[in-house]
Amino acid sequence: MRYSDRPHRPAAPSATSECLTARHHLHAYVDGELDYSDDAQTIRETVAQHLVQCERCTRLERQLRAMRRALHAIGTRTDDRAGGRMRDEFRARMHTLLTGRAS
Ligand SMILES: [Zn+2]
Repeated sequence: MRYSDRPHRPAAPSATSECLTARHHLHAYVDGELDYSDDAQTIRETVAQHLVQCERCTRLERQLRAMRRALHAIGTRTDDRAGGRMRDEFRARMHTLLTGRAS
């Protein structure tokens, strides 16, 4: 069967709804922002469990962590204008990474 014979589907990534949920929280998860309430704990466990089974999201998590480190390095610079521009670029990249779309 050729690809063109398949029913039309949106050109969406092969992410499952679990992936989307995990990715929605991944940024906060990586930033350690999910530690302070019961809800957050549940979300954190959900994300952690998903990461165990999903290689694609694990890869995203690694990339986010790497970007976060880079972002932190930028944040310690004194040139705010250049730093701000780079932060925006990082944020855009992160958005693309998490949603599969350009912002
Ligand atoms: Zn996933």
